[in-house]
Amino acid sequence: MICDLCGSNKNVTAFKVEPKDEYVNLCEDCKNQIESGNLDENHFQCLNDAMWSEKSAVKVLTYRLLKKLGRVDLTDMMYLEEDELAWAEEEGEEKFDSVGNKLNNGDNVMVIKDLNVKGGNSIKRGTVFKNIRLGDTPGHILAKNIYIKTEFIKKV
Ligand SMILES: [Zn+2]
Repeated sequence: MICDLCGSNKNVTAFKVEPKDEYVNLCEDCKNQIESGNLDENHFQCLNDAMWSEKSAVKVLTYRLLKKLGRVDLTDMMYLEEDELAWAEEEGEEKFDSVGNKLNNGDNVMVIKDLNVKGGNSIKRGTVFKNIRLGDTPGHILAKNIYIKTEFIKKV
């Protein structure tokens, strides 16, 4: 199996292109950079080729990365179907926990303060939620269907 973006075969794993249930194959280097948000422009020269992929998921991910890299010249050249473009634009804002760690879908977080929740329940400080979703509410994440402000959680 090789990386859909750069063609490397180094620890290639499937990577979900949110919010759809479609995957691309990513090598360790591409995956680490995408997850940390620190994109190395040199490494991602590979997107010059990946942008012509026939796979929707690869095109969508490539489009998002090129946008992050400020390569409007290249995104303008890409041909995305209407639904692919909607998908590419559907990525929510980046969210960060109370100490500035970037949050991803599937992260485990700990609540750092006693919180009152609608309905009169409370969440005790120190409660850990597994497999959070970023959701689409600005400044909040979704933990077991409860919206929690990102300033009250810490990635664990
Ligand atoms: Zn790669």
